Order: sequence, then structure tokens, then C-alpha cells
Amino acid sequence: MAVAGSPELLIVMGPHATAEQVDEVVARLAEAGAHAHVTPGKDATVIGAIGDRELLATLPLEGFPGVEQVLPILKPYKLVSREISPDPTVIEARGRRIGDGYFGLIAGPCTVEYREQTLETARAVAAAGATMLRGGVFKPRTSPYTFQGLGVDGLAILAEAREETGLPIVTELMDPRDVEAVLETADVVQIGARNMQNFILLSEVGRADKPVLLKRGPSATVEELLMAAEYVVKEGNAQVILCERGIRTFERSTRYTLDIGAIPVLKLETHLPVIVDPSHAAGRRDLVPALARAAVAAGADGIIVEAHPSPDEALCDGPQLIPTAEFGAFADDIRALAALMGKEIG
Ligand code: PEP
Ligand code: MN
Repeated sequence: MAVAGSPELLIVMGPHATAEQVDEVVARLAEAGAHAHVTPGKDATVIGAIGDRELLATLPLEGFPGVEQVLPILKPYKLVSREISPDPTVIEARGRRIGDGYFGLIAGPCTVEYREQTLETARAVAAAGATMLRGGVFKPRTSPYTFQGLGVDGLAILAEAREETGLPIVTELMDPRDVEAVLETADVVQIGARNMQNFILLSEVGRADKPVLLKRGPSATVEELLMAAEYVVKEGNAQVILCERGIRTFERSTRYTLDIGAIPVLKLETHLPVIVDPSHAAGRRDLVPALARAAVAAGADGIIVEAHPSPDEALCDGPQLIPTAEFGAFADDIRALAALMGKEIG
């Protein structure tokens, strides 16, 4: 359900509060013209009160039966904040999970180029234990003269790869006009780094019933990433996966600077799962394994990695693609490290 207005107060119910007491708080809020966003948690139910801050302040919420605490939500992001939902969110697509102990291993080509290239990659990453298949058909390219992707024709190839391997499909949506076509095939809709603040696109996927993989903009702060996620969740779609993929700094030895620090910060600030894209951050394949390991060690809930049967012939991002022949060994390393971090492959 879309949220109109911003949750201003957090009503924390006591551990023994009954469902009737929660309903009573929600009803009293409604009487006062406010709305409630109820999140049942492992330890306690938390109610986000949405409405005029001054009006809410006049309600004797603390005296309502079952209420333990009433706190203002001071952060600009509300629905994605840990405060409103202390338990981690688990995202599920076709039985594969990311978050709260489930580690997502998303892999595939940068770009869907042609049928055999995509199918071959899909088979290899599936055999290596990947949990989802990535592949772009709409490509945000720096140069308008380079391959822009197969467009909707590529979606059929992804669907065939899913049919054969069983892997859910992660693919990018760039234009709200393609939302229907992409939603028909995608199991997870990717919003790319360059579109992180395309608010129309964010609201559009916020009305969809599919998980959204939201990549951090190259120049976006952690707070801006969380505000972008808030746009999606506000429309009613709470299934958002955040992705750190490197930011633009003065450093030139890597394509972007992987902001490892953002991982523990995000894990503290939000209940949403956080994954890392070491491929676009590194820009070169010899650095991808180290950055991927660092992501796992820093507490990421998954990684999204680019692979290709013959990277030298790839139409996009060749230097950073892991050859499919080497992907099995890479995946073994990541799996072992994820297990060490107490996570199982989702
Ligand atoms: C991608 O994952 O295909 C991609 C283009 O990445 P980003 O949006 O992070 O640049
Ligand atoms: Mn790429």
C-alpha cells in the first residue's frame, strides 16, 4: 500500500502487546486523521505513525494499552530505516533468498549479446552455484556510439536461460515506458547507478510486485541511496536490495572506488539487504576476487558479478568480466568465506 505523508513517530509496542492492542492504536491514529505503518517484529511490533507531526504530538499515545515507547523518527528516511523495522528484510525470487543470513550470488554477462553467449554463461554460473542470473538488455552506455543492448528482444533470451537453469533473472529497467515488458520477464528489476535518482522510475517500480535491485549512484551519498530506496518503498514495494558498486573519487587505479565502509553503515541504518558489485567497482578482472572477498568480510548479503565465456570478444565491459571457465573457483572461494561469516548461499 502506498504511503501518503512521512512517518514521524515510532510507536514501539511491548513484547506482550496483543493484536487487539495494536489494532486499537491503529484505530486511534485513524480517528485522529493519521495513518499507521505496522511492522510485526521478532521481539515487538513497531508502528510508524504517519501524519501531521504537531497533531500526532497531541495524542496520548504513550498511555495506550500495550504501548511501551513513543519515539520521533529523526532520520529523513523512514520506511527503510532500522528503527521502523528492526528485523532484517529477506528478499525472495523464485525460492532464492537474499538477506538475514542468506547470501545472494548473482552472476552473468554484463550484456545479453546473443543467445549462445547468454545461455553458455547462464549454464556455467548455475553449475558454479550462482543463485540468480544477471544480464542487461537496456544498457546505460557512456558513449551513444557503443552497443546499447538488444532491448526487448534480449528479454526472450533471458527467459530461455531461466527456463534451462532455473535461475531467477535480474535485469535493468532504464525507461518507465519499458516497465511492462521488463516486469513480464524479470524476477528482480535492476535500477542502475545512473538512474538512482530518477524519481519517476523509482516510483514506477515502487508500484510493481517484483523485488528491486537499486544500485548506488557513482556520486551519491549513503543517505541519498537510502532516500532513493524510500521512494520505492513509499509506493508500497518493500522488496528492495541495495547495491554498493563503487563511487567516483580522485583515484584512477580502479574504475570506481569501492566504498567498503558503506556496507556496515547501511547494515546499521536499514533493514534492507545490501549487496556489492565488485565488477563495476574494479573495472578489471584481476581485482574482482579481492573486492568480492572484502565485501563478504564487511558483511554484505550478496554480490553481483559479471562473467562471460570469452571476455575478449564481449561487446561491453570486457576487461572486468570473469571468464566462465574461472567462475567455479571464484564461487568456491566466496562460498567458503560466506560460510565463515555465518551465511549460507540463498
Ligand atoms: C550493470 O550492472 O549492468 C551496470 C550498468 O552497472 P551500474 O549501473 O552500477 O554502472
Ligand atoms: Mn557491465
